[in-house]
Amino acid sequence: MSVAPNLREGAALKTACPYCGVGCGVVVEPDAAGAPRVRGDPDHPANFGRLCSKGSALAETIGLEGRLLQPRIDGRAASWEEAVAHVAAGFSRAIAEHGPDSVAFYVSGQLLTEDYYVVNKLAKGFVGTANIDTNSRLCMASSVAAHKRAFGSDTVPGSYEDLETADLLVLVGSNAAWCHPVLFQRMSAARAARPQMKVVVIDPRRTATCEFADLHLGLRPGSDAVLFNGLLAHLARAGAVDAAFVAEHTRGAQDALAAAGDAGAAEVAAACGLPEGAVALFFDWFAKTERTVTLYSQGVNQSSSGVDKVNAILNAHLLTGRIGRPGMGPFSLTGQPNAMGGREVGGLANQLAAHMEIDNPVHRERVQRFWKAPVMADRAGLKAVDMFEAVADGRIKAIWIMATNPLVSLPDSDRVREALARCPLVVVSDCVASNDTLRHAHVALPATTWGEKDGTVTNSERRISRQRRFLAAPGEARDDWRAICDVAGAMGFSGFDYPSAAAIFREHAGLSGFENEGARDFDISALAGVAEADFELLAPLQWPAPRGRAGGTARLFADGQFFHADGRARFVAVTPRAPATPTRPERPFVLNTGRVRDHWHTMTRTGKSARLSAQTPEPFVDIHPDDARRLGLAEGALAELSGADGAYVARVRVNPDQRRGCLFAPMHWNGEFAAQGRVNALVPSRVDPISGQPESKHAPVDIAPFEARWHAFALTRAAPRHASDDYWAALAVPGGWRREMAGREAPADWDAFASGWLERGEGDEWIAYRDAGAGRFRFARVSRGRLEGCLFVAPDASLPPRDWLTQLLAREALSPQDRMSLLAGRPRMAGADPGPTVCSCFAVGRNQIEAAIASGCDSVEALGAKLKAGTNCGSCRPELQQALSRAGVRETAPAK
Ligand code: SF4
Repeated sequence: MSVAPNLREGAALKTACPYCGVGCGVVVEPDAAGAPRVRGDPDHPANFGRLCSKGSALAETIGLEGRLLQPRIDGRAASWEEAVAHVAAGFSRAIAEHGPDSVAFYVSGQLLTEDYYVVNKLAKGFVGTANIDTNSRLCMASSVAAHKRAFGSDTVPGSYEDLETADLLVLVGSNAAWCHPVLFQRMSAARAARPQMKVVVIDPRRTATCEFADLHLGLRPGSDAVLFNGLLAHLARAGAVDAAFVAEHTRGAQDALAAAGDAGAAEVAAACGLPEGAVALFFDWFAKTERTVTLYSQGVNQSSSGVDKVNAILNAHLLTGRIGRPGMGPFSLTGQPNAMGGREVGGLANQLAAHMEIDNPVHRERVQRFWKAPVMADRAGLKAVDMFEAVADGRIKAIWIMATNPLVSLPDSDRVREALARCPLVVVSDCVASNDTLRHAHVALPATTWGEKDGTVTNSERRISRQRRFLAAPGEARDDWRAICDVAGAMGFSGFDYPSAAAIFREHAGLSGFENEGARDFDISALAGVAEADFELLAPLQWPAPRGRAGGTARLFADGQFFHADGRARFVAVTPRAPATPTRPERPFVLNTGRVRDHWHTMTRTGKSARLSAQTPEPFVDIHPDDARRLGLAEGALAELSGADGAYVARVRVNPDQRRGCLFAPMHWNGEFAAQGRVNALVPSRVDPISGQPESKHAPVDIAPFEARWHAFALTRAAPRHASDDYWAALAVPGGWRREMAGREAPADWDAFASGWLERGEGDEWIAYRDAGAGRFRFARVSRGRLEGCLFVAPDASLPPRDWLTQLLAREALSPQDRMSLLAGRPRMAGADPGPTVCSCFAVGRNQIEAAIASGCDSVEALGAKLKAGTNCGSCRPELQQALSRAGVRETAPAK
């Protein structure tokens, strides 16, 4: 790893976390050995020094193993010159023969704003196609569309500070404790400091976020709009309407109220599958609490009626006039670190740059003039799901995919694989050498990644932060913006000869203020002339920052002025719709997909960290105990899910926090880490008709036991090779790798199988236990007293505790007791097995936490004092609270 000069000088360097939309500031500084280490930036207004488990482990993920370091064409190494010429010729040929809409760009919320800006400019202004879309389509497109309908602009009105000063926080479809952990910690600390603050969580699942809620509404999946329509009607009945605000600053209230109907709490509760008293209490709190913030995230957006659901929420805030003022307003939480930046530059197929509209001829002419562009796309392009349909049916002949793995993240992902296999030219820019999508690339371009890139990102509260370079680009990795500009130049286009990311940022800022005069919300023209040195020092700021207001803007709409032509906001009449794909007898379960605490997207980065892999070692499926009992699915067994065109095999977690008839599975696992762990293969590609966002929270599936003849796991020092077991999942552990396996047919010779897996060599000590009748085998390879690997086999999932054995792999030498334990298949000393990891910072396991509670620890603080759990990043504190609740221990104060 080569450290860039700015870190070698020894000064701490400030940058931003590359994971979620909270957008935390990070300080990177060299440790005693000169290697980068990270801590939270105490001065960054998003996190004030906090980092969650993922942010804290950033330094563990910057190694070069698995990186793509040189361009490849058809699998062979190539120079950049050759690769750029090849891509440019392929795209130019497709355009010449089939027109500009025969090419497409599929990009990512992981890109920096500067990357996003130039690829959007190339597609829309020079190629002349709007076939550019981003994986942010999968996370927040419904909020974008709803904001535009209500406000006339894609504006998040408030600031994180409002979440701390609200008296009522309503979280809808958001497991913030895991998906936006630092923001959750801020809200949780504010609630602990201000006991009058109430928290309502609306989510079919009882998640870790519910641990700080006063009220959890575990509603029927898909019924959110019914609940918020009911709330709207209640607000009118309860006299909570801000009549002056509605009259002077909005339109459409009567239509929205008429559509909402007059259902009372009892009727709404019945429709949502909730207790009437809980619905009545929520309505009452909302009506009576002026300082209310409603946060919403993927649970609302990822729906075939996601836009309407968001508008139903916005309606409630418009009716009460609670918007744009401190401590109140609707608040969309974005998933990715730069989903907002992508929206600013028009990275979606139905947008133009700088929050201008592609279907507005005045906007198109203005942007074309600003860019001095030869052409301009004159209609919306293909949104993500439609784009890959067009690849499948041959309309798209060349596609360039950047910083994303659509074979894992798009719905009906097996069909995406078929589409790419048929496409004449697939170009993939990525930092990794191998993933599901790269296997279909004709051209692979090595990209720089976090720590090597330089530019800006925007978080959920509209705050632009710098991502700064502190590592030199490895091998021939190149910044995405530079690769795009190189290809644009090779296609014969001028206007792409930027000397730096700062130059792109200046143009982007200039366009935002170009002929704006306050007509568009996104305006950062105060930064249009920022010098290179000032860009280097740029402090985080919230847009808009028009000329003369360089300090940015904390809130919008306090003056009641919106961005529709008449300055008024719009209510939207919402008629709730059922999910697009209902359950049916052969697919009777509703599958909800989402994130786990310590992984990010398709694990490209977090999968490298043993610490981050410990909390959730395998793909899993959560199921209610009654459903599990009925289907014969035991905790820890394997289950097979079928739906859409694909299958998913995962470990069963029997979880009373699930609704009956509902399943939950994570979206992270991919072909690098599991055999059949791509859960999006189960999700039908049904989308919201306005936003094009897929319905990833409501896939009808079936679930059945996975009938395996044998189960096994192996620990090895070297990364395990891929094999064709019916089930496998691999993860990094301290000192090596762990691989879970299962099969429908048992190998003929387990000794031969084990020797192959553990790479048994001359002179190795071989510890073996065989009980062929019971189907139990244990093998361990020891070299010079050190455990080099072990394999445990059983006829069912009742295998020894992995966490105990993983500790042995990390030891320099085995003791005689360790050897006996290996043969016995269980720890010889009581308490030696920590159990599944809960606190990843200090490797504290569930068994240790339960033992500490049994010994008298009665609060999160007491657990922290005894075990250190929860005392570093704090991401596991909701789970510590859950463990206390499970044990029947009531804390006197909620977890901070
Ligand atoms: Fe990164 Fe965690 Fe902050 Fe999100 S909450 S930006 S993942 S440190």
